[in-house]
Amino acid sequence: MKPESAGSLAVVGLGPGTSALRTPEATAALEAATDIIGYGTYVDLAGPFRPDQALHASDNRVELDRARHAFTLAAEGAHVAVVSSGDAGIFAMAAAVLEALDGADEPAWRRVALRILPGVSAANAAAALAGAPLGHDFCVLSLSDNLKPWTEIERRLALVCEADLVLALYNPRSKARPHQFGAALALIRGHRAADTVVVLGRDVGRPAEQVGVTTLAALRPEQVDMRTVVIIGSSRTRRIERPDGGAWVYTPRWY
Ligand code: SAH
Repeated sequence: MKPESAGSLAVVGLGPGTSALRTPEATAALEAATDIIGYGTYVDLAGPFRPDQALHASDNRVELDRARHAFTLAAEGAHVAVVSSGDAGIFAMAAAVLEALDGADEPAWRRVALRILPGVSAANAAAALAGAPLGHDFCVLSLSDNLKPWTEIERRLALVCEADLVLALYNPRSKARPHQFGAALALIRGHRAADTVVVLGRDVGRPAEQVGVTTLAALRPEQVDMRTVVIIGSSRTRRIERPDGGAWVYTPRWY
């Protein structure tokens, strides 16, 4: 294949849901794409598309397969958009796309014009609705042990607690892993005060959006699922009551 025939590949972070939280750059990349690749739910979220755009929605959870498919099409001249919810670089497709490139002996893939477009991640969006819980040092952890051992997750949770970082938890609790959130909670409760502020953001940026503020002692695993991002405050995180009965949450920037 001649170098000039190589197409392009944009890894697009869609934001959490509503197009209002999608960057203009991401929207432009979706419009320019000849082919859209992603997990079915995210391809739906990215649309609507024109009849001349090819949709490759898959339920295949093997991200590397999807990434290789994207390079194969782009190397043939297609303008491919690989879509992820939130930010494509946070527990999403951007790393898989680079891993596919890294492991491939395909000169045509290296000629593909590759761009990674950032998006508003679930934790950003939920934090803004609640106030500014991520206002000081924080850490983002996935509780899923599909791709890493649970012992490593426990080790990191203990270290995060020791460092008194605000903690944003992604993939907190699924049907296949119903007990791990409780185990993580027990571990965190061993380090942090009962009245530590907790923010729950569910379906943020989507029609069913819910944001709740609770405490570490009151938090129950049943309140949390795979559509929830959980932000657990540090010892400094505070709440201010709102007239409507809700609360603003913030972590001050000073020590
Ligand atoms: N790339 C995504 C994260 C993918 S991991 C991002 O940057 O947001 C999937 C996890 O993200 C979910 O289990 C949930 O914890 C969180 N999440 C994604 N979208 C969300 C939303 N709209 N509301 C609440 N949590 C969300």
